[in-house]
Amino acid sequence: MPCQSIGSRVLPGTVSARFLILFLLALATLPAHAQTGHALKMTYLGTAGWILDDGNVVVLLDPYITRAKYGGGGHPDDKRPDYGRGDVVPPDTELIDRILDGIGAPVDFILIHHSHFDHLGDVPYIARKTGAKVIGTETTKMILRAYGIPEEQLYAVGGGEDYQFDDFSVRVIPGIHSALNEKLYHDTRRYDRTTDLSAPLSPNQFIEGGSLQFLARFSGHEVLTMGSMNFVERELEGIRPDVLLAGINGSRLGLYNYDERLLRVTGYPPVVIPTHWDNFRVPYGYSQEANIERNLVPFEEGMKTISPRSRVVRPVHLETIVLEPMR
Ligand SMILES: [Zn+2]
Repeated sequence: MPCQSIGSRVLPGTVSARFLILFLLALATLPAHAQTGHALKMTYLGTAGWILDDGNVVVLLDPYITRAKYGGGGHPDDKRPDYGRGDVVPPDTELIDRILDGIGAPVDFILIHHSHFDHLGDVPYIARKTGAKVIGTETTKMILRAYGIPEEQLYAVGGGEDYQFDDFSVRVIPGIHSALNEKLYHDTRRYDRTTDLSAPLSPNQFIEGGSLQFLARFSGHEVLTMGSMNFVERELEGIRPDVLLAGINGSRLGLYNYDERLLRVTGYPPVVIPTHWDNFRVPYGYSQEANIERNLVPFEEGMKTISPRSRVVRPVHLETIVLEPMR
């Protein structure tokens, strides 16, 4: 499938025309006067990437748009360059511009779960383009500093912070990375101000640097985010989000009762949206059927018994889910 035809899916007008309107169960149970917030628009960028827009504040989560072919796992029909993990992979600036300009409002914040390339790889370009405040680990900050992003844009956090901004607040939650490589993955490396980094960096220099989750509070919505298929259960106790972005790639299957524990500790949220389930090494528009069958379908089936009152919404690349106010 040629890239040109894929590009036509993401023209700004096309994106906004593809809104999927959802009327939620909870809306019917709340009296109209109790709803004081705004509708929240959630656009799936693929991987763990989202645009969250409540009309006042625009927040990006792990906005990875380039979907480069790197480190294996691409598609033979994809004729783009095939990069190694030691190569510098340039951002697809034309595609990023088209998607972000299509929001029609300035980007205020970028929240980064961890610093791997499929989460942070496009952020040097996006942070410079938008001037948005970036909230992430010190490793995230050091990578962006290496790219020349100004200090006043970079908020380094470790988990436990709860920051109030105008019209938006965010609680930072200590996280844990997916148990990759059959649970043998464990990377304790971190970057700090003594690390000698010179941009541009290759994917293997985008180290994890620790993992985070966020409780992103908008007017009328609280969204619990995930950027990995893992979580520290005790850190989520007492959190009751309206929307759970649930990391559901296959690596979760090596964890003890992952789906059950995640839904229980978060109080069986009214809306659950799977994230980080796709093959991010192919462009938008390529079939995701294999990952849908492997990841989404079993999760959706399991949710019927684990959390039958949750509405599970299957996200589609570059389509927008509109949630009416929940609080
Ligand atoms: Zn990662």
